[in-house]
Amino acid sequence: MANPEQYHFMLPHDNKPPFIPLEEELHPSFQWLTSNRSRSRGRDVFNVIDTIVVHATAGYATQHAIDTWKARVASAHWVIPDENEPQHGHFVWATVAEAKAAYHVGNVDYIPHLGVGTNVNNRSLGIEIVNTQDVQDFTDTFSDWQVTAVAKIVLYAWAKYPNLRHVISHAKLDPSRRSDPGNNFPWEEFKNQVLTHSVLGSRNQIVTAVYTPPDIVKHSGNCCEP
Ligand SMILES: [Zn+2]
Repeated sequence: MANPEQYHFMLPHDNKPPFIPLEEELHPSFQWLTSNRSRSRGRDVFNVIDTIVVHATAGYATQHAIDTWKARVASAHWVIPDENEPQHGHFVWATVAEAKAAYHVGNVDYIPHLGVGTNVNNRSLGIEIVNTQDVQDFTDTFSDWQVTAVAKIVLYAWAKYPNLRHVISHAKLDPSRRSDPGNNFPWEEFKNQVLTHSVLGSRNQIVTAVYTPPDIVKHSGNCCEP
């Protein structure tokens, strides 16, 4: 059986995927959580992010996770809805702005697998999958859509952040306290979806179309200076 304490792979420097925007919506608590359940990363987000952490909530619904975060001062950047939620199959929730550090890893000093770097929360993005975990003895399976949704977030972030390398479970970061996303999570299948880009959608054709500018009318003055 898969051991979540082993879930970890590296994104190669080459073979970066094309950038595909996420199918995400801002959760109704996005503004509040970003204001009250995150902090400055201390460095610019573009350079500092080198890790993405996969979690599962140990709860029944997105709102259960949000309520817990509000009560206990925790958070993550995205929540993947469970099968019984209307958003499942359609979009993921953005819950904290990527520019901010979310509070998704509690034991931030235990980082032997990530090498030299700053506090785990400052350098990472956190994804929470709604799944009951040990609340139901790990009998809640992850849907194919949930697994693919996590892979798409990793591909999106890989295309966007130049230093992103580590894809790792919460269990591997904090094995004495955490086991998420649990041994039901199909890590090898997920890893394959990421490294082969197999789950990427097609790009918006407008983005790649050749733009032909109209005849330029020359004005005096300097355009567009700050
Ligand atoms: Zn976790």
